This record gives sequence, C-alpha cells and structure tokens, in this order.
Amino acid sequence: MTPSGRVAVCPGSYDPVTNGHLDIIGRTARVFERVVVGVVNQPVRKAQTLFTAEERKAFIDDATSDLGNVEAKIMSNLLVEFARENGASAIIKGLRAISDFEYEFEMNQLNRKLAADIESMYIFASANYSFLSSTGVKEIATFGGDVGDLVPAPVAKALAERLAR
Ligand code: ADP
Repeated sequence: MTPSGRVAVCPGSYDPVTNGHLDIIGRTARVFERVVVGVVNQPVRKAQTLFTAEERKAFIDDATSDLGNVEAKIMSNLLVEFARENGASAIIKGLRAISDFEYEFEMNQLNRKLAADIESMYIFASANYSFLSSTGVKEIATFGGDVGDLVPAPVAKALAERLAR
C-alpha cells in the first residue's frame, strides 16, 4: 500500500496495555485519520509474555472501542514492513522520563536505515503516566496491589486472576 501521511502505526508489546499506552494511542488518533496499533507477536527484547498476542489485542480492542479510527492488529513481521502493509508513513512512539530515550534513539536510526520513507515520531508521556510501564503494573499485581488507576478495568481483572499470589 502507498504510504499515506494520514495513517500512523503505534507499535508495542502491550503486555498488557496500560493507561499510558492508551493516552498515546488516543492522542495519535486526534492527529491522524487512522491509527493501527501493532501488537508485537513475540517481542525480542522481552522474555515470554504474560498474555497471548490475541489477549493483548483484545484488551486494546475493548479499550479503544469508542475511537472509530483505531484498529489493533497482531504484528509478526518487521515494523517498517508492517507500517508499509498498512499504508502508514509514520511510526508513533511514546517517550517516558529518560528511560526510553536511548533505546528509541537507536531504533530510530535502524528503522531509518531500513526505510527512509517511514518517519518515526515521538509523543511525550503525560506527566501522570511518565513512570508507568507494563512491567511495573505486573509487579504490583503480583503482590496483590491495586492497579485500577493504571490499566483498564478488564485488564486489572485479568491481572488479578493470572498473577495474584
Ligand atoms: P512497555 O515498555 O510498557 O512494555 P511497550 O513495549 O508495549 O511498553 O511500548 C509501546 C510504546 O508505548 C513504546 O513507544 C513505549 O515507549 C510507549 N509507552 C509505554 N508506556 C508508556 C507510558 N506510560 N506513557 C507513554 N508512553 C508509553
């Protein structure tokens, strides 16, 4: 598909999706006509995911059902190829306080080398989500902590069922 400035891809492992991810997806959806959320099937950087790709996608489908221009898809190929397949000219990523910068800086250069026509762009995390990560949420849930403010309700429920010790 020809890349269009109207379509953006928001990639991630989303294991599980948090309110921080949803903030980035929602803000992207206000700027672009169509947003494809790419759910990485088997993340390279991370060990086994807690939720299957289908479960991770279903949580995003549920949480974005009120946004008519957002669609989640499972992504099993190279990010720039996925962006091309979906006619996207932009990859949008969220940047949290300091921690994301180094990794994103490297990935930006690699992706640019692979596909100079697809631009990676960054949205700063909202202040209240700047320290929120899927890993942190899983850690809290493992010890029975309340994650109700950090993730959508169905995700909080699933985490409690799967993780609580
Ligand atoms: P995580 O690091 O939480 O496992 P992912 O690998 O699923 O997240 O990341 C998907 C994208 O969402 C990345 O661009 C990441 O920087 C961004 N992101 C993750 N958590 C937040 C947050 N709380 N606020 C803004 N962006 C975030």
